[in-house]
Amino acid sequence: MIIILKENADKEKTALLKGKLRSLGFEIHESRGHSSTLLGLVGDTTILEPDDLIANEVVADVRRIQEPYKKANRKMHPEDTVVDICGKKIGGGHFQVIAGPCSIETKEQITEVAWDVKNSGAHLLRGGAFKPRTSPYSFQGLENDGLKLLLEAKKATGMPVVTEIMTPEHLLLFDEVDVVQVGARNMQNFQLLKMLGKSEKTVLLKRGLANTLDELVMSAEYIMAGGNENVILCERGIRTFETSMRNTLDISAIPMLKKMTHLPVIVDPSHAAGIRWMVEPLAKAAIAAGADGLMIEVHNDPENALCDGPQSMTPEGFDSLMKDLKEEVKFFGKTMD
Ligand code: PEP
Ligand code: MN
Repeated sequence: MIIILKENADKEKTALLKGKLRSLGFEIHESRGHSSTLLGLVGDTTILEPDDLIANEVVADVRRIQEPYKKANRKMHPEDTVVDICGKKIGGGHFQVIAGPCSIETKEQITEVAWDVKNSGAHLLRGGAFKPRTSPYSFQGLENDGLKLLLEAKKATGMPVVTEIMTPEHLLLFDEVDVVQVGARNMQNFQLLKMLGKSEKTVLLKRGLANTLDELVMSAEYIMAGGNENVILCERGIRTFETSMRNTLDISAIPMLKKMTHLPVIVDPSHAAGIRWMVEPLAKAAIAAGADGLMIEVHNDPENALCDGPQSMTPEGFDSLMKDLKEEVKFFGKTMD
């Protein structure tokens, strides 16, 4: 980190600042120019907030040289992280498809969809029990009863399951859940992230509707800082000025995240598009851009779905898409086993 001092910065106040930085364990390399002085800090600057330093009256500007995240940083861990979910690997050339309905509705619905997506080649089953809905009057999910139905479908099909957690108190209900999803609206629920950091659960962390990639990686860092390194990132579309789709899929996020971090990056084309027919082209674009997996909503009766019917694929549509995706994944040198 480099601190640029103001011209004619007060000497006493500058000495106080330097003393404070040294007491925090930083080595300071000072470089005096004609009009300004630079302080180069050597040490772990992740603990420093540039804004706090700028508040000091002798400081003109602060530049970070190193990213504020360590554990998630590709520079600290050049190899891709491979996350293992009950023997299903994701990352480092391993590709996975997570499929299932937006919400768990009935025993028949979740079991039927589970068998359908399994037979089409998906290895992980999704389904929401606790749903973060914009309106309090919309279907909120079957909650604990939904979790039970999801676990029954897991037992019947042998598929590992992915479902969303909305509050730290619910973690004890997620004992048999294989992947805990942190939804877009909770990406910066820091209490939730800290608690998941102390758990051993694999976490699927979705990007917030209006969050930067730095913010997404910092949220992953919260989980990893607690000791849990099993984190998968998910790009699910962001808010832009465009209104033709539910969100805008940020394809650029995939290569950029893979440069910033070693964590697996998957894409959710269903929530990005909000439109069934667009899931296929976006899924294909995601693979071409380097994604390590996809999460796709599939419903056995999308017209009567209690949540996200318009973007849900039918089991037949999903089956035909999977045939193409398998070829494409192979073409891009990844395995889908
Ligand atoms: C979901 O996956 O069911 C969901 C609610 O997604 P998001 O958090 O991305 O809106
Ligand atoms: Mn949904």
